[in-house]
Amino acid sequence: MTDLFEKHRPIAERFERMMEMGVNAVGVVNDRILSPTRAIIQGRETILAGTNNYMGVTFEKACIDAGKKALEEFGTGTTGSRIANGSYAMHRELEQSLAAFLNRKHCIVFTTGYQANLGMIAGLAGPRDTVFLDADSHSSIYDGCTLSGAKLVRFRHNDASDLDRRLSRSEDEGGGRLVVLEGIYSMLGDRAPLKDFVELRKKHQFQLLVDEAHSFGVLGPNGRGLADEAGLEDEADFVVGTFSKSIGSIGGFGAGDHPLFETLRYAMRPYMFTASSSPATIATSIAAVKTLAREPERRDRLRRNSERLFNGFRTLGLETGCEEVSPVIAVKCKDEPSTIAMWNRLLQGGVYVNIALPPGTPNRLCLLRCSVSAAHSDAEIDQVIAAFGKVVAKA
Ligand code: PMP
Repeated sequence: MTDLFEKHRPIAERFERMMEMGVNAVGVVNDRILSPTRAIIQGRETILAGTNNYMGVTFEKACIDAGKKALEEFGTGTTGSRIANGSYAMHRELEQSLAAFLNRKHCIVFTTGYQANLGMIAGLAGPRDTVFLDADSHSSIYDGCTLSGAKLVRFRHNDASDLDRRLSRSEDEGGGRLVVLEGIYSMLGDRAPLKDFVELRKKHQFQLLVDEAHSFGVLGPNGRGLADEAGLEDEADFVVGTFSKSIGSIGGFGAGDHPLFETLRYAMRPYMFTASSSPATIATSIAAVKTLAREPERRDRLRRNSERLFNGFRTLGLETGCEEVSPVIAVKCKDEPSTIAMWNRLLQGGVYVNIALPPGTPNRLCLLRCSVSAAHSDAEIDQVIAAFGKVVAKA
């Protein structure tokens, strides 16, 4: 009999090598969370610079109060899916407030952002359809495509002419065509060149979904994401987002204006066959959407903080994931052992960042990935830069 774990032996060996070099870089334990930007890790007060807590709302009084109230009034969980057990009024309220924030007719919330991509992509596309994915797409996008049974066509990252060629080749195949892009790519922090992709609509027919997971709340005059920043919201048929980043809770959403949008509720397995979010989660998410709408200055603060970190890294001579500034700032490193060593030294220096290694990275890059928060102080950003400076000097 073949042991089913045999295929995982290389993972175990890689993990052992990582552990020999220090802390488990992909399983860090936060003993206490002190604020959106600080935690106790390994007994040491640490600056959190890898949490995707873009708007810094996780300790917002209004959000915590709303969560506590919902917990007391509606209990700990919903104990079932919205199809089987029905929705709570607050699920609807969250959908309505998000639809208003996004200026969309319809919005459906999911229990996680991962499920939002699974549900939306597999709900929209079926076995007769083709889904065109950017090569650097998040795993949830790839998994959504697999679940859909649609034909998957990958195009080169951020390359509209490559997509153009692939759309031309698939012209006669029949079925619908869905192109999926991301507002800000999660590993390198670069934006999709939305205008170039939208131009293709003059030549080809397709529907467009933009995953604004890292750009919702962050980009655009209204904080609605990349399409808002680019002035191209009318061109994005569907928007996906998550609550685990700028909303500071957990969950996700899909939104759009299609007259049949609501039918997706009865066509999306990741919506139908899983329990809906807990009352506390939904209530904190509603409060966070209100906070984002009420306090646009958080976006300005985030932009300033991102520029400060980006410029600091550039002054140190570090190579960043892309040339444009976004709250995702990745530092390219030489190889896996030196990346793990640097990550450990950063943690010892009181700075937590994400480590990102192949195969989870584009072009097999080894990255130390930072995500900036509106809640970081100038001093905290400077401490992160200084910690990188020390680590680089030793590398
Ligand atoms: N889309 C993208 C681009 C992401 O980076 C992520 C998570 N990092 C998700 C979707 C899934 O979101 P969640 O973690 O909230 O499930």
